[in-house]
Amino acid sequence: MSFERRQTKQIHVGKVPVGGGAPISIQSMTITKTADVEGTLQQIYALAAAGCDIVRCTCNEIEAAEGLAQIVPRSPVPIIADIHHQYKMALAALEAGVHGLRLNPGNIRKPEHIKAVAMEARDRNVPIRIGVNGGSLDPALYEKHGGLTAEAMVESALQEIAYFQEVDFDLIKISVKASNVPLMVEAYRQLSAVTDYPLHLGVTEAGPLPNGLIKATAGISTLLLEGIGDTIRYSLTADPVEEARAGRQLLESLGLRERKNVDLIACPSCGRAEIDVIEVANRAMRAFEDKKIPLQIAVMGCVVNGPGEAREADLGIAAGNKRGHLFVKGRNVAVVPESEMVEALVDWATFIHEHGAEAAIARVDTALAEREAAKDRNALLEEKGDDANHSNEKIVEIRKTISSN
Ligand code: SF4
Repeated sequence: MSFERRQTKQIHVGKVPVGGGAPISIQSMTITKTADVEGTLQQIYALAAAGCDIVRCTCNEIEAAEGLAQIVPRSPVPIIADIHHQYKMALAALEAGVHGLRLNPGNIRKPEHIKAVAMEARDRNVPIRIGVNGGSLDPALYEKHGGLTAEAMVESALQEIAYFQEVDFDLIKISVKASNVPLMVEAYRQLSAVTDYPLHLGVTEAGPLPNGLIKATAGISTLLLEGIGDTIRYSLTADPVEEARAGRQLLESLGLRERKNVDLIACPSCGRAEIDVIEVANRAMRAFEDKKIPLQIAVMGCVVNGPGEAREADLGIAAGNKRGHLFVKGRNVAVVPESEMVEALVDWATFIHEHGAEAAIARVDTALAEREAAKDRNALLEEKGDDANHSNEKIVEIRKTISSN
């Protein structure tokens, strides 16, 4: 299933197309001092490995601009310079060879400065993001609209576009971020109704995990599902690699980017669980974190119901009687000691990724694996009965409560 995306103009940030039907790109931002060239490059490489398409670095001082001149040629992904208050830093970043700029209209307000940057960017064919931010809105607009409103943020973006148009610059993308999710959603909706420049989505200052993740996902995915948004950034108070991972996971789960990493599913655990499902699932998550294996893999708490509940997964493991029962596309394939469950998943996933599920199944005696699974399933049923969660007892109690009232 797919949903229609809003048509936007296309720009290029270095080699990455943004808008105009291009795949939605993932952005993040380094948290190093940009003058620390090696430290910043290390972070950029980690971000690229986690799925980030475009990285932004702060350019707040001359040493940062000088750092960018060394970073840009060695970066595996396009680099955008984030400009704060000094328009001259934007000119310096362009000189350093950056692939894009981000200007905050609330911070650089003099029309002649905005236009000077736009003219230089135009001559170098470098795009600029108009990055309106709820927290630093131009006070005049704040006053005009009686506070921070979606209308005020949209007007701020439109004012900036008008300055750019005066000097024939239209390599533009826009963001109207706020930390308040409904406000941010409304601002982007209004903006997308009045412009066809590509939009960069984000919930600003979303905060630490897991709250930040939830806020950002709520805002970004609401808009993506309406077809709005061409590039995204999670602004988390966390290692930026988490931002890139979150971005990729969100796009993969919405079917907006091809799956590159494991989709790990796990049962919620219940009275039948033979292992600590949370612990094993977390270990599996870590084991697969940086492996580019686009399979759905299941960690299930018991062999009684696990293989059936996760029969759609490419690969799974279910616990029973201190053993792990591996299954591929619902078929039992092998039994391993409980302590080796995660390692076995990694081995099988790697094989399936390289050779396919059929080849993986063909190399083992599935009848033997099924017999072993049946043995443990029956042993567990004997030990815990067929009502391990005591649901029937609860149902009896519920009926008593209802009938006595
Ligand atoms: S029945 Fe088994 S697989 Fe299903 S939730 Fe309980 S422990 Fe997990």
